[in-house]
Amino acid sequence: MLTIWQALIGLFLVVLITLFVFRLSIVKEIILLPENYRELLADYVKFYQQLDEEGKPRFEKRIEHFLSAVKITGVNAVVEDLDKLLIASGAIIPVFAIPDWQYINLHEVLLYPGAFNEDFDQAGSNRPIGGMVGSGAMQNVMIINKWQLRQGFINNHDAHNTAIHEFVHLIDKMDGTMDGVPEIILEKKYVNQWKNMMDSAIGQMKMYGSDIDMYGATNPVEFFAVISEYFFEQPDLLKTNHPDLYEMLVRIYKTGG
Ligand SMILES: [Zn+2]
Repeated sequence: MLTIWQALIGLFLVVLITLFVFRLSIVKEIILLPENYRELLADYVKFYQQLDEEGKPRFEKRIEHFLSAVKITGVNAVVEDLDKLLIASGAIIPVFAIPDWQYINLHEVLLYPGAFNEDFDQAGSNRPIGGMVGSGAMQNVMIINKWQLRQGFINNHDAHNTAIHEFVHLIDKMDGTMDGVPEIILEKKYVNQWKNMMDSAIGQMKMYGSDIDMYGATNPVEFFAVISEYFFEQPDLLKTNHPDLYEMLVRIYKTGG
């Protein structure tokens, strides 16, 4: 029979375990985000600056959640607090209006100090790549160049942001294929329309040039990433210059950029 002492000891253990778990989660929280994270976000992330008093803490929570799920490792580069916050911002900005989004196809981000070529050789002479979403053995890994990561946020009046570009590739890839069509967030009835819009925009770019980064004319995969950078960096300009593309991106991302 259960004595009062046994019951009390049981209760004591439950309280002890609860306290222990609770404490662990507090410790984890403190370790994850640097003390001055709000200032860093306010200084470097225009998207965060423009959020209201309700949006800012929501963004911070999403950043924290991302950083608790994804490891960031420096490869001949020091991972500073700012780098972590910028990578997490690049991840959250495109999906901020999609509440339950998780990058289940990403486990680790490798931070490289400078440009690297396709063989991950940092000293190569090929065209430098600012970032890359891994495939094959590098599945679930993203590579990002520290210098370009920072430039993407420091120069916020162009339409370039390497982190956003790479995370858009992951969003595109989530449905199993990287094809410029993010089926997981784009309603099925718009899929063909979106494919046609991308094809005709690429055709126009090749024929007449464009204010859209010409790298986007490479193929629909790059077009979707490049136009998404434009959308989140310069939404008003995109709306003026390419209202149809803007409208479709609002459908995809559930926000006005
Ligand atoms: Zn790309």
